[in-house]
Amino acid sequence: MAYGPLITGHANPVVINAAKKQIDMGTVYGTPSYAELELLKKINLRVPCAENVRLTNSGTEATMHAIRLARGFTNKKGIIKVNGGFHGAHDSLLATSGPAHCIPSSAGVPEDTVKNTHVIEYNDACELDSLLQKNKDVAALIIEPVMGNVGVIPPKRDYLNEIRKITLEHNVLLIFDEVITGFRVSGKCAQGFFGVTPDICTLGKIIGGGFPVGALAGKQEIMQYLAPAGPVYEAGTFSGNPVTAAAGSAVLDTLSESTYSELKRKTKMITSPITDLLIDRNINGCVQSSTSMFQIFFGIDSVTNGTDAGNIDSKTFEKMFKYMLRSGIYLPPSPLETNFISTAHDDSDINKFVEIFDQFLRSIQS
Ligand code: PMP
Repeated sequence: MAYGPLITGHANPVVINAAKKQIDMGTVYGTPSYAELELLKKINLRVPCAENVRLTNSGTEATMHAIRLARGFTNKKGIIKVNGGFHGAHDSLLATSGPAHCIPSSAGVPEDTVKNTHVIEYNDACELDSLLQKNKDVAALIIEPVMGNVGVIPPKRDYLNEIRKITLEHNVLLIFDEVITGFRVSGKCAQGFFGVTPDICTLGKIIGGGFPVGALAGKQEIMQYLAPAGPVYEAGTFSGNPVTAAAGSAVLDTLSESTYSELKRKTKMITSPITDLLIDRNINGCVQSSTSMFQIFFGIDSVTNGTDAGNIDSKTFEKMFKYMLRSGIYLPPSPLETNFISTAHDDSDINKFVEIFDQFLRSIQS
């Protein structure tokens, strides 16, 4: 499932035809196109915070621009991220907590670049509040509303509401990174599903119909700070690419409420029996999901934040990955990724998954 974009499966004819039709008319114009406008309108109508939308070429670009926008709008430097949260491969968020302050999580990132980045645990609103009591120079909190880069970790009840309240109290922007959850968790993204509206959100994956894409969207008052109207620089030769936009628009046209209830039903068809299998066979582990995202964790009975995700049994996962692959099921190759169900999976695929998972558990117990 290519890490999330393919909600309608590979080579869906509706999507491919939309892309082909656009290719015949041109692949890039360097100016806004009808295809781009169509996609922007759909995002604007469906995503609660999206008063204005700007397309980019990847999720990485979207979060990079969102951070610059937040800093430019608030005139503050600090950025808070969550332990285990991933927002793409740009310098200021490739950071992890160190003994005294944040340190780079990749070679090649200067310490100075992450000195204004702070890391807190997911699902702990008190930690956010106490950090903001102590530090007034914070522009934004960037967070995946459902974590999808440490396996799947859904928010605890009220957590998203609480962080919305706290960020408002401290005049800090709330950025939902919905590159994974956008149009994946619901037709109104995670923000619509949980009823919590951020100031800015970033999108990617599904809105490009399988072509490279990203977007940032937000309240008009904030988005107006982007160039050329505003002082925060943002641009890209291929941004708003018409082929991407035509494919993305075609995908959004296929998604309705019944699509999500069907995806949820199929996900449950996997997660319920495999949870039962773990219990019946007395294997320590758990299965966590949100609509059509799920992950299986071994060696732990629940994962609520990045620290828990660091304590899972990844050796058993590796065995499972290899067993499933030999049996014809290609999972993402890490327990810290997410499995995605698409509309192209049918009940027989789901039953096959459960059957092979059962065989795998037998194999490790014999
Ligand atoms: N944010 C999140 C939440 C992601 O999961 C990813 C990629 N998996 C990104 C940003 C970066 O997106 P891209 O790979 O399109 O640059």
